[in-house]
Amino acid sequence: AKRTGRNMVRAYDTSMKEEMSHRAAVENRLRQALQKREITPFYQPLVDLQTGEIRAFEALARWHDQQDGFISPDIFISMAEDIGLIMDLTEQLLLKACEDATTWPSNIQLAVNLSPKMMIDRLLGIRIIRVLGQTGLAPQRLEIEITESALIADLDLAKTVIRDLRNAGIKVVLDDFGTGYSSLSQLSNLYFDKIKIDKSFVATFQSNDKQMNIVRTVVALGKGLGITITAEGIENASQMEALKQLGCRYGQGYLIGKAMPQEQVHAHLAGVGPQ
Ligand code: C2E
Ligand code: CA
Ligand code: CA
Ligand code: CA
Repeated sequence: AKRTGRNMVRAYDTSMKEEMSHRAAVENRLRQALQKREITPFYQPLVDLQTGEIRAFEALARWHDQQDGFISPDIFISMAEDIGLIMDLTEQLLLKACEDATTWPSNIQLAVNLSPKMMIDRLLGIRIIRVLGQTGLAPQRLEIEITESALIADLDLAKTVIRDLRNAGIKVVLDDFGTGYSSLSQLSNLYFDKIKIDKSFVATFQSNDKQMNIVRTVVALGKGLGITITAEGIENASQMEALKQLGCRYGQGYLIGKAMPQEQVHAHLAGVGPQ
């Protein structure tokens, strides 16, 4: 029994080591991918639920690794955070996304995600405005999505960044509303132009009275405060209809469209929605 125990420890050790060296290898390839600009934004459409018209595209980072194939952004974004590359990666993606968006019709917005780990830099807003300035995209067409966890470490700093962005005409969106941190109080503090209801909520609200009431309340509060509400993760027509009935303004999800490369955006715009 003792022997088995030792072997088990050894096997565990080996797999730990393997995992760590695999991680180190992936980190190295991530560094290289960044240098070679291989991480690119794909664009997921966001529609007006009442008319079906496309109103915006959200930039979602995509990385195709030679060895591991497509790696989820949840993984490589947190890796970039850990190895201090998140600012570089974000600036690169923001630059490319703004350039791409300048080729879209001017009534189409661009939404870009920020990592909450970036909220340690008082000049973050200024940096974003500077990158945007290099592309000539109107600030009014850019929306910056942040989660409530971005407000937690240093609220004062986060407020400064949000104020800088909004003063420049950029819209600020509270992402992943309903996932724990966020509360109804976040609605009334007026830091945000828009709120996105998280996909986990959209997945279950129809069979959960409490969630249904929260969605209804958020939509009503949003109307009163002039904050636009978007629902993400819409996967079926029944969810879409229910959200529309509740008065939710915008929607996003696989039912409406998955994230696509820039090459497909123009064709998608030409083929979808009222002509
Ligand atoms: P998020 O910002 O909440 O983005 C929504 C995620 O839900 C995306 O996953 C999108 O592809 C996925 N999604 C869209 N519609 C549906 C649907 O109908 N059903 C389901 N089940 N999922 C749907 P993705 O692209 O894998 O991104 C995951 C997360 O990674 C994002 O969540 C965001 O937090 C982060 N992320 C992605 N790109 C970037 C980026 O450029 N910068 C930063 N900081 N984070 C990013
Ligand atoms: Ca988002
Ligand atoms: Ca989200
Ligand atoms: Ca999310």
